[in-house]
Amino acid sequence: MFWDQPVETLSRAELERLQLQRLQDTVRRVASRVPFYQQKFAELNVKPENIRSLADLRKLPFTTNTDLRANYPAGLLAVLYDETLRLHTSSGTTGKPKALFFSRRDVDNAAELCARSFVATGVTNKDVFQNMMTYGMFTGALVTHYGAEKVGCLVIPAGPGNSERQILLMQDFGTTVIHITPSYGLYLATFLEKHGVNPRRDLKLRKAFVGAEPYTEETRLKIEQGLGLDVYNSYGLSEMNGPGVAFECEQKYGMHLWEDHFLMEIIDPQTGEPLPNGERGELVMTTLCREAMPLLRYRTRDMTSIIPIPCPCGRTHRRLNRITGRSDDMLILRGVNIYPQQIERVLMATPGIGRNYLIQLEGLDEMTVKVELAEAGFDGQVGHLLDLQTRLAENLRAEILVKPRVQLLPPGELPISEGKAKRVIDNRKL
Ligand code: ADP
Ligand code: ZN
Repeated sequence: MFWDQPVETLSRAELERLQLQRLQDTVRRVASRVPFYQQKFAELNVKPENIRSLADLRKLPFTTNTDLRANYPAGLLAVLYDETLRLHTSSGTTGKPKALFFSRRDVDNAAELCARSFVATGVTNKDVFQNMMTYGMFTGALVTHYGAEKVGCLVIPAGPGNSERQILLMQDFGTTVIHITPSYGLYLATFLEKHGVNPRRDLKLRKAFVGAEPYTEETRLKIEQGLGLDVYNSYGLSEMNGPGVAFECEQKYGMHLWEDHFLMEIIDPQTGEPLPNGERGELVMTTLCREAMPLLRYRTRDMTSIIPIPCPCGRTHRRLNRITGRSDDMLILRGVNIYPQQIERVLMATPGIGRNYLIQLEGLDEMTVKVELAEAGFDGQVGHLLDLQTRLAENLRAEILVKPRVQLLPPGELPISEGKAKRVIDNRKL
């Protein structure tokens, strides 16, 4: 199923022609209206007319997080203040929030890309969409809310938390699609189990859009089994409209990045140089349609790779592999580079292990992985689980090359998160 088939299936040549034209427009606009880019262009000695092909993108400056903060609140605006329609901020997982302005056209485009994404997963106007993202300054809820309305779904703006009420809403209004973070998804799965709700028998759920933070295939499986539905990976960031930047189609294998709206590059985060097709690196994006706040070569710090083969669904926009974390998420423990996702993968694949965990770094250079036991089969005794503890520590060592301390906890011991989960606490005295 397609929302906008002609655009979603453009040939590479047509797509690139459109991209170049939109890139040139964007560059001209920021060069005439945004002092930050005027100064950068002067430093690099580039002019809008130097951008003659997509390869010329590399002549343009990067834009970073720091640039966004330095230009807070409205330094990067490319329209008049009166022409802005909506303000969002990033949720501030790392550092202070950033202000993101939308014009009327930006608000509409953001909803359009969400509609396109939702329909690609098989959602129709008959679906009932329960949105469990946080409403407010965060783009996650509002942007998808408008997207689902555009498709014609009945939209329930539930927000996160209060799981009992979530289930009531699902039952009373026949919810078929939910939008949820992976951490709350895992929690909700446990909650259903604990309260004897069998989703396949008692609910009508069929799909979940899961994103806003990194998660693994193992987590996808746990949410799918626990909630009785299909999970589609959803990627976005406030700097690029929020959700609907890249989304999985019905194949559930890699997220189509909407290339008529965003130019993507995968670079080596250390050197800034482009990487060969298919290699894993930092995703860099240039907005092609944003009016209020266009951004050139924005360093997302998100680590991913392009899937170098076409998708059987017929969409020509290239797919991204799962985001495995941010380039600055990486932990260095005793000289070894570790991504929290590697730890999650081992935990989620170990029988008897539950869904909530926390990685604590402390002392000189020690790691403790605290993890809850699975609800099923738990008899209130932690002592005789020594065996499981040893096995888990060994499996973790095989994956991350250093052996952490493992602490098994009864179900429900660790704090639960409804928004973005904080999985790593670093209290090391290095
Ligand atoms: P913040 O930067 O404050 O977290 P955002 O709300 O803009 O604010 O969050 C966007 C970030 O969330 C992305 O850059 C990425 O790191 C993460 N993210 C969003 N969706 C996914 C996803 N499907 N998989 C992994 N990470 C994701
Ligand atoms: Zn596809």
